[in-house]
Amino acid sequence: MQSKDYEIIIGLEVHAQLATSSKMFCRCAVDVDAKPNTKVCPICLGLPGVLPQVNDQAIKLGIRAALALGCSVNLESRWARKHYFSPDLPKGYQITQYEYPLAEHGELELPGMNKKVRIRRLHLEEDAGKLIHSTRKTLVDFNRCGVPLAEIVSEPDIRSVEEADAYLKELRLVLRALGVSEAEMERGHFRCEPNISVRPKGEAELGARSEIKNLNSFKAVREGIERAAKDQIEWLEAGKEIVQTTYLWDEKLRELRPMRAKETAADYRYFPEPDLPPLIITEAEIAEIKASLPELPAAKRKRLIGADFSEQDAEVLAAEPRWEEYFAGLLDAGASIKEASTWLLNETRGILAERKETLAEFKVVPDEMAALIGFLREGKLTRPAAKELLTAMADKGKGAAELMEELDLEAVSDEGLLEETARKVIEENPDACERYHKGKTNVIGFLLGRCMAKLRGKADPKAVREMLMRLLSEGK
Ligand SMILES: [Zn+2]
Repeated sequence: MQSKDYEIIIGLEVHAQLATSSKMFCRCAVDVDAKPNTKVCPICLGLPGVLPQVNDQAIKLGIRAALALGCSVNLESRWARKHYFSPDLPKGYQITQYEYPLAEHGELELPGMNKKVRIRRLHLEEDAGKLIHSTRKTLVDFNRCGVPLAEIVSEPDIRSVEEADAYLKELRLVLRALGVSEAEMERGHFRCEPNISVRPKGEAELGARSEIKNLNSFKAVREGIERAAKDQIEWLEAGKEIVQTTYLWDEKLRELRPMRAKETAADYRYFPEPDLPPLIITEAEIAEIKASLPELPAAKRKRLIGADFSEQDAEVLAAEPRWEEYFAGLLDAGASIKEASTWLLNETRGILAERKETLAEFKVVPDEMAALIGFLREGKLTRPAAKELLTAMADKGKGAAELMEELDLEAVSDEGLLEETARKVIEENPDACERYHKGKTNVIGFLLGRCMAKLRGKADPKAVREMLMRLLSEGK
C-alpha cells in the first residue's frame, strides 16, 4: 500500500494565553518578559497555606471565546488538580478543569474549504513556569506560573495538514477579533498539540495516536504532523504495532523524539480542587457577553463578498482589523470603494509584501493616500506617477502634495505643451505618419510612446492620444 491508501486523522489541542493583566488565581502581573522570578507571589509559587482566587476577567474571556466558537457554556463547571512532576510546576499540580469544563460542543468553519471542525470542549487552566536550558545547567523562571490559559480541544475531524493549518489560522483570527488572546505563536501565546493517527482508507476504527507537545509555529505543526503520519504508515506497512506515544518535535533535525508513553488520565491523579468552589455562571452573564461579541471573521468575510469584494480582498480585510480600519479611513476621506480597493488591497499590499512589512509599519496614513487618489482622479497624476509617488510616500513618510512637488511628478496638463510635443513627434516620424494615413492606425501606439517618453510619463495618455489623432487628421 502507499500513503494515498491511508487516511490521516488529526485532532488539535490549542493552549491560548488569555489577555488578562493579572494571573489566573493571584494578583501577580502577567508579564512573562519581566526579569525572571519577579512576577511571583506565595499563591503562584504554591507555598503552603495560601488560597487561590479566581480572576473574573479570565472567566469572561473564556466565555467570550466559547460563545464565538458556538459552544454551550456550562452554568456550573469545576476546577480540578492535575498532578505531574516538573521543576517548573512548584505546586506539583496544575489547576485545570477536567470532568466539568467551562464549555462544550462548538464548531469552527474552515474558510474556503466548506468544512466544519467540531470543538469538543473549552476549559480554563493555569500555565506552568519556564525552564531555561544552557549547556551546563537548567534555570527556572516562575513568571509564567499561573498565567491564564484557555485550552480548546477539537474533535478528530481534521484530515490533512492543509485543514490543520486553516483551523489554526481561523482560530487565531477569532481569538484576536474577540480580544481574548494576542495569540502570537512565536511568543508562546498560542501553542498547539496535534494528535495524529492513520488508518487504511475505508476503515472506521481509529488507530493509536501520536501526540506532539507544544508546537510554536505553523511550520512546526505542518512538519510535525507530516512526520508523524509518515512514521505511522511505515510502521503499519512493516506490521509493527503502534503504541500511543507523546513526542517532542526537534525543529533542527525535523524529527520526533519520544518523550514518554502517553500517561492515561489515571497517571495524573485528577481530583476536585478543594480550595475553589464550583464556577457558577448565570444566564444573564452569558447573554451580556453574547451581546458584546464583535462581528466574527467568517461573518465579515461573507458580508464583504456580498458587497462585491473578491474572495481574496475579503480575506485580507477580514484577517486583520487594521486593514478594514484603513479601508474605512480611505472611504471617509472621499475615495470610492474601487479606488480604495485598488490602492490599498493591490498597490499597498504589493509594496508591503515586497518589503516584508506589515500595515502597522506602513508610513502612509489614509488621508494622504486619499489625497494621492484625488490627484489621480483630477488628472494631476498619471497612474505610473501615482505608483511612484506611493512608493516614495512609503519610504519617506511625507505627504502626497509635498512629495509630488518635490519629485516633480505632477502631470503635464498644459494643452500648449502637449500640442508642441505631439507636433514634434509627428515631425520626427514621417514614416509612421504616412503608415497611419494608409490605414495602419495601430501605429498611434508607437507615436504615443514617443510623446510619453518626451513628457517623462507625466501626461494623461488619453489626452495625448486625442491630441495626436487630432493633429494627424489635420495633416491629412
Ligand atoms: Zn502570584
